[in-house]
Amino acid sequence: MIKNFIYCPRCKGLLKRIDGRLIDCPKCHFHFYLAPAQTTALIMENSKRQILLTKRKFAPKKNYWDLPGGFINFKETAEESLRREIKEELNITLKQLTYFGSYWSYYPYKKIRYQTLCLAFTSHYDGQKISVNDDVKDYRFFSYKQISLDKISFVDIKTALKDYLKRVSS
Ligand SMILES: [Zn+2]
Repeated sequence: MIKNFIYCPRCKGLLKRIDGRLIDCPKCHFHFYLAPAQTTALIMENSKRQILLTKRKFAPKKNYWDLPGGFINFKETAEESLRREIKEELNITLKQLTYFGSYWSYYPYKKIRYQTLCLAFTSHYDGQKISVNDDVKDYRFFSYKQISLDKISFVDIKTALKDYLKRVSS
């Protein structure tokens, strides 16, 4: 990822890579830390102890199963972001949200591997009518046993689900 930064966006001089995430311009002293893009994900269970997964409509990982959620905008908290994404993707309004854990991953997009950090939350599904929209093609509630991790989109989502399944079965 950092190899894509060659010229200074301020003075157009050659940038110097200090380490894996810090770039510096020796000419104008433009200094920039690359940080992971923050995302959210929701593990939502219904009363039959099934977890909602969404099917991705677009690349990357088109047609893979995913947790609902997405990228956090500027001036948005993780909770606000997740509520917005859930409204956009499933057209439901989340009430209670519980923080579950954070998970890093790569997000490969147009030949660049972006580093991401996902904040995962849990919630209980209260039966509101779901209609899929935005970047979601379909959704389904899966029992714990039906979830096969090799059909799951990204490393962070896989790890979050693995952790969750471990926690509920112990
Ligand atoms: Zn510069």
